[in-house]
Amino acid sequence: MNSEHIESLTRLKEALQKLPGIGVRSAERLAFHILREPRTVAAALAQAILDVKDKIVHCSICYHMTEADPCEVCRSTNRNQAEVWVVEQPKDLMALEATGLIHGVYHVLMGNVAPMDGVGPEDLTIDALIERVRGGGIREVVLALNPTLDGDGTALHIQSLLRDFDVKVTRPARGLAVGSQLEYASVGMLESAIKGRTKL
Ligand SMILES: [Zn+2]
Repeated sequence: MNSEHIESLTRLKEALQKLPGIGVRSAERLAFHILREPRTVAAALAQAILDVKDKIVHCSICYHMTEADPCEVCRSTNRNQAEVWVVEQPKDLMALEATGLIHGVYHVLMGNVAPMDGVGPEDLTIDALIERVRGGGIREVVLALNPTLDGDGTALHIQSLLRDFDVKVTRPARGLAVGSQLEYASVGMLESAIKGRTKL
């Protein structure tokens, strides 16, 4: 039997192959694995995939992923709402949150300004950040952006936009090697970077 001619199986393989890191062989292995599993297992997988698409929205305040808007951090009375940690992606937020050292709240930019990739400030949530600051109640904005060329450029841009506001703008210390990514940094490295932030 040539599996290439079974349409539904081919469609599953093609769909799996579109996932990052999944090549032809892996897609085939996964497809056959799913085929062998009971229907309940396949249904749970399909439902879990649909749930993340249907239930997760972006927090209207910080843009982090959440099932309840505003998110838990933005709603929390135990967090310092006057200290905003600006990160590039939700995964950076999760890396910082995992340290347990952040007592403030967040703002997710959803990327960084990358002129070479055609990403301008208007494609990010920078305007919303400025509006948050304009709204008052924020005393410190920590630019926890990755120490890359684009991250540095984005930090400079935001810093210039915040110049006229009565808000302290800081950046975590360069405990992280240049070019390293927040999400891969060890907790120890993050801790020294978080505690040693400098005023810009
Ligand atoms: Zn939020």
